[in-house]
Amino acid sequence: MTTYPHSIRLETEQQQFLTILSREDALARFQAALFPRSVPSETRALADALGLPLSEDITAPIDVPPFDRSNVDGFALRAADLMSASQARPVQLTLNPESITCGTLPRFPVLGGSATPIATGGPLPRGADAIIMVEHTHPVEANSIEVRRAVSPGQFVSSAGSDMAQGEVLLRAGTVIGSREIGMLAACGIAQVAVARRLRVAILSTGDELVQPGEKLRPAGIYDANGPIISAAIVENGGEAHFLGAFPDDEAGLEKAMREALAAHDVLILSGGTSKGAGDVSHRIIDRLGKPGIIAHGVALKPGKPLCLAVCDDKPVIILPGFPTSAMFTFHDMVVPVLRRMAGLPPRVDAQVSAQLPFRVPSELGRTEFVMVSLVQGREGLAAYATGKGSGAITSFTQADGFVRIEALSDHLPAGSQVPVTLFTPQVRVPDLVIIGSHCTGLDLVIGELSREAVSVRSLAVGSLGGLAAAKRGECDLAPIHLLDPSTQTYNTSFLSDGLELVPGWRRMQGLVFRLGDARFEGRGAQEAVQAALADPECMMVNRNQGAGTRILIDQLLGLARPDGYWNQPRSHNAVAAAVVQKRADWGVTIAPVAHAAGLGFTPLTQEHYDFALVSDRRDKAAVQAFLAALQRPGTHAALEKAGFTSASRPGVD
Ligand code: AMP
Ligand code: MG
Repeated sequence: MTTYPHSIRLETEQQQFLTILSREDALARFQAALFPRSVPSETRALADALGLPLSEDITAPIDVPPFDRSNVDGFALRAADLMSASQARPVQLTLNPESITCGTLPRFPVLGGSATPIATGGPLPRGADAIIMVEHTHPVEANSIEVRRAVSPGQFVSSAGSDMAQGEVLLRAGTVIGSREIGMLAACGIAQVAVARRLRVAILSTGDELVQPGEKLRPAGIYDANGPIISAAIVENGGEAHFLGAFPDDEAGLEKAMREALAAHDVLILSGGTSKGAGDVSHRIIDRLGKPGIIAHGVALKPGKPLCLAVCDDKPVIILPGFPTSAMFTFHDMVVPVLRRMAGLPPRVDAQVSAQLPFRVPSELGRTEFVMVSLVQGREGLAAYATGKGSGAITSFTQADGFVRIEALSDHLPAGSQVPVTLFTPQVRVPDLVIIGSHCTGLDLVIGELSREAVSVRSLAVGSLGGLAAAKRGECDLAPIHLLDPSTQTYNTSFLSDGLELVPGWRRMQGLVFRLGDARFEGRGAQEAVQAALADPECMMVNRNQGAGTRILIDQLLGLARPDGYWNQPRSHNAVAAAVVQKRADWGVTIAPVAHAAGLGFTPLTQEHYDFALVSDRRDKAAVQAFLAALQRPGTHAALEKAGFTSASRPGVD
């Protein structure tokens, strides 16, 4: 049997996920191990009870209103006295010698033929059974009024207990307290209520690589995103988050932290270290923390397969996967329902909309898959673009409007299908301007100008050809493109179809990047430098993915050569620069602004045209006009030039 150094154990040697449960099965088993249970309760002042569910029914301790009261400013009287009153036969009533305001107790009864002035909210005097509005009376001398209409008994009177009667159930246990409930309770004089106590949730991140935001990132370090994400998501779901920090993958240290956290909290949530790899220790500790221990380790979810669900001495212990997006989805899908039920809160209801998928979305058979999507307004309803960049990408969360869930039994969703999208926000927010196509850091500068004018912009990076297709379907206003037509050696124009027109953008210089001081490249022309690199067997390149404009240039430079590093094919300009900076490669091809920002040496190759295909019938849209104006502004040109681009609409540029 092959033996590996102890620190690099291969998959075959690891304890594998032998029993993977379906999402539904894992959730059912987890719930069965935790419920039924009583919801922990505490008494809180009314003002501090907002958002919490009541733990018991509340009955009205008094009648509201506590006495019969007037609803208007007017006169308390006996309806019978006005039975025959009319325009032709006015009735005169003598005023009693008092005026009833709010908070004063009447002293004189209303006898037949008399009336008492009363303010809105004033208590009805003895004998009175109706109120007439002051507008419907005429003063006669100092102490009488004349009335020319009849009133019905009870008119403008709210009788005692008509709003809430003493002993009536006002609010049922489980009702979540909002401002309306607070108003109702205050009206009955209730100052304190028994509510479900907020769950105290301990959060721990694990991983030798983790660095807290605000601290300096060391080489091979990763900022701890899960700690803040999970803490915030717990608060969003009515819990109390206690973030205890990030812990290295050290079994003894982690076990101590987990024991202490579990003793002092209702729930323990960890992230990372749940794959069954050599450095992954937390799941091994769980079984020592209490019974029954692990309920599910390995769930058929994508992202999120390594999720581990456990119950230790009646408390849930959860290990979320390390990748932030996986941690988020598994938290919302598998943990939130349990936390809310434990806290006596109603299940979460997220808004959904229906949208059409412009592309086929493949999915792994046997796993419930979550695909994040961005929504744009198409000609016939909403279109949902998948934004996922893989389970490690956190940015897709802020670019996405929601997600589509693909059930385990389905291996894809066809292009053109209409699907339900669960929204991250209560409503769909369709942006003013939609840009779909190739991305460029220069574009961020123009979009930045627009944000200052309060124009909301959605920019989706799907490549030049994807952008053109979206423009033809009317799903975007502008498609940024940089496509070279090899037959004419011109950029972009020949790719436009009917209904699209070209708006000049800027030029980007493509070139060879290398570390400053590398004699193989410095001071040499591009062709010569590549020959020097190919001649040196120690020299390592970094390539680009098939389909990238940059790749075409690299292939032209290399001819038939396949030097070391050829198969390293990252998908972005920045990844090429990072590989060279970090010495994983010695040379590659990227654009000048990226090379300069990374502090690399740069030998120019060719200038690429980055332009916009504008959907002609969108030209008059205010947001499109704002974009075109921003593109023309001298300030924008200056910002583009400063970042290393050459503005196409600048005089003198071809
Ligand atoms: P693990 O499950 O520990 O193997 O982690 C899987 C991936 O998620 C690794 O790339 C980790 O660096 C990353 N990761 C783990 N924990 C965190 C965290 N708290 N914040 C950001 N990334 C993390
Ligand atoms: Mg880890």
